Amino acid sequence: MTPYIGRFAPSPTGPLHKGSLVAALASFLDARAHGGQWLVRIEDIDEARTVPGAAEDILQCLRIFGMPWDGEVVWQSRRKDLYQAAFERLNGHVYPCGCTRREIADSRIGIASDGAAVYPGTCRGGLAPGKTARAFRLRVPDVADADISFEDRWMGKVAQNLATEVGDFVLRRADGFWAYQLAVVVDDADQSVTHVVRGADLLDSTPRQIYLQHLLGVPTPSYLHVPVVTNDLGEKLSKQTGALALDLAHPLQELIAAARFLQLPVDRAASTEDFWQQATTAWAARFLMNP
Ligand code: GLU
Repeated sequence: MTPYIGRFAPSPTGPLHKGSLVAALASFLDARAHGGQWLVRIEDIDEARTVPGAAEDILQCLRIFGMPWDGEVVWQSRRKDLYQAAFERLNGHVYPCGCTRREIADSRIGIASDGAAVYPGTCRGGLAPGKTARAFRLRVPDVADADISFEDRWMGKVAQNLATEVGDFVLRRADGFWAYQLAVVVDDADQSVTHVVRGADLLDSTPRQIYLQHLLGVPTPSYLHVPVVTNDLGEKLSKQTGALALDLAHPLQELIAAARFLQLPVDRAASTEDFWQQATTAWAARFLMNP
């Protein structure tokens, strides 16, 4: 059996909040329940969104919550050579795109499930005269060959047609930064991650990642997407929607609340160690039949 390697991969755009604690808790529990490793990777590839000090705050929160990680923390901003190398390997599938966001939105071809406009393929056959390359996109297969499906350990069967629901997607952004989709695939493969456990806001990204894994010839990990914590309006908790900060003076209460959100039967615990023991047992009972 391959050894289990899981990971938590926060973007340092602010401190850990009630929503990101749920994702951290789920991936930590899955690693513990499997007796595996749990890595932490700081996804600071989008330098425009990175908030100074946020990564250190997140790591400090993990310590407070009693979630030790294995090995050294990995920082995406220090791994650009790896993304460049993967990009070069994808050469035959990539093309420059000169479209602005506005032009893509105006094409009204459709809205992808993540709210972005489906790319209409304008630059597929080459840049129009007068256009300059802004971003670089990956060509997805034609509709008949573009179905990607996988079995999610929480959500069940997930299927997406990359041609109709996503379109050719960006690997290198107009601002010069590598896109999340490329970085995450390169890193999960480079770190030999076997199990990805994260929030369901990334469910729609998974087929793109699986397609990139096929093209790069790297293994596809097993996926488990946990429900996302929302506010009263049904919006994902984030800084923009008024995420509730964690009360770091009462970590046990926060852990119990996060476990309750995942419907794990842990209502009372004497200490954080006691909490982790109970929660790991509960997680194993629920998910280990389905590794
Ligand atoms: N960095 C992403 C986030 O904080 C998570 C990426 C992943 O787990 O694949 O939402």
